[in-house]
Amino acid sequence: MIGGGYVGLVSGTCFAEFGTDVAIVETNPDRLAALREGRIPIYEPGLDRLVAENVEAGRLTFGDDMAAAVKGADAVFVAVGTPSRRGDGQADTSYVYAAVEQVARVAEGYTLIVTKSTVPVGTGREIAKIVHATRPDLDFDVASNPEFLREGNAIVDFMKPDRVIIGTDQSKPGGTERAQNILRKLYRPLYLLERPIVFTGLETAELIKYAANSFLAMKITFINEISDLCEKVGADVNDVARSIGLDGRIGKKFLHPSPGFGGSCFPKDTRALTAIGRNAGSPVRLIETTVAVNELRMKAMGERVIALAGGDVKGLTIGVLGLTFKPETDDMREAASIVVLDQLDKAGAQIRAFDPAGMETARPVLPQGVTYCKDALDAATGADILVVLTEWNEFRSLSPEKLKTRMTGRKVADLRNIWDPESLKEAGFDYISLGRPDMV
Ligand code: NAD
Repeated sequence: MIGGGYVGLVSGTCFAEFGTDVAIVETNPDRLAALREGRIPIYEPGLDRLVAENVEAGRLTFGDDMAAAVKGADAVFVAVGTPSRRGDGQADTSYVYAAVEQVARVAEGYTLIVTKSTVPVGTGREIAKIVHATRPDLDFDVASNPEFLREGNAIVDFMKPDRVIIGTDQSKPGGTERAQNILRKLYRPLYLLERPIVFTGLETAELIKYAANSFLAMKITFINEISDLCEKVGADVNDVARSIGLDGRIGKKFLHPSPGFGGSCFPKDTRALTAIGRNAGSPVRLIETTVAVNELRMKAMGERVIALAGGDVKGLTIGVLGLTFKPETDDMREAASIVVLDQLDKAGAQIRAFDPAGMETARPVLPQGVTYCKDALDAATGADILVVLTEWNEFRSLSPEKLKTRMTGRKVADLRNIWDPESLKEAGFDYISLGRPDMV
């Protein structure tokens, strides 16, 4: 497994849990040192125990020696990052290509190279060219096996996936069968649980991942726009979302209004799909719009907080609950909090923030002046305004009475709709949330 980040570490550990011998190659010295010492460099519920058990059982190892890991492997998974390229939004495949070249240099005998990273359509074929150019003598196949796990629920998602996608080179005689057989065997423990494995060509598998993430991002953006409309016409977005979600064709998930989607996948994957579409001469306009609407939404959230303050937050203290892009993760990549806190900081507010898992990951990406607090009530202490940015469960039960004892002001912007408007209003708060009547 090349790459010991969210995807490589979770996938590698889960494969080991199914009885496979897994060697994870990680080049980041801090990450590698942590893994070797039994520390998990990312926050993922349940992962520490699973890693420890599989290391103990001798099925899971960590190292930076590519040759040792690749030699004799039935399959080599590439799970390195594919961030957005600055400027054009295309996925940066340079880490993938570099890893593949390193693998090719040291591979011995038949080698199956599998991309787990999310990669643009055509990457699999490019990988085949790179491997061939690096090692014309090497017997190899390339497969695409995109990963659908969600941070925060990654182990369950990996072990009980809705589906496993396996794309192989259907134009290569025999290549498909050989590669499919290895991957089928590897996934057999999941297969026995009757999780469907979908076999496709390389390009199809690569596109499936972008289409899935872009659809979900579009669904989030849809309910966010409906939420704004609800505010204008006096409708309640929670009832709208619940009611449309009861239609099986729509489905109830991903219909919660929010400050916009963030994270390590949706923003970069929607941008990448629009680039793939433009380059192929078949623009995906719905997703181009999704990207633009989402960017505007994050900015609009900061403006709402400023409006709640009466148009000026200069010198005010703002308590912020939740920083990560969603609960149950420490991931700060493209979180709405980055945009919102930047606006509030520039407008002259003093920010007191708390996040249950993201304090360390937040520091490098948030404004310098932010004060990091020890818990939610500490963040509320002395605040003129309290803002909820991530819906961690522990914030849901905070009582308005307790908040009153800590806050200086009586204004709350609940940008995840975690609280009941009535109880906040009864307690004397000036409360705004998203898409609910009489709240704005
Ligand atoms: P990450 O940045 O957390 O991890 C990537 C790791 O690879 C890093 O630790 C890096 O040091 C290491 N690495 C880079 N080059 C290397 C090399 N040549 N040899 C060994 N290690 C190397 O990224 P991630 O979140 O795990 O995402 C990886 C890929 O999976 C991306 O394409 C992403 O889009 C996709 N994906 C991510 C998620 C998610 O929830 N994070 C879900 C599905 C798919």
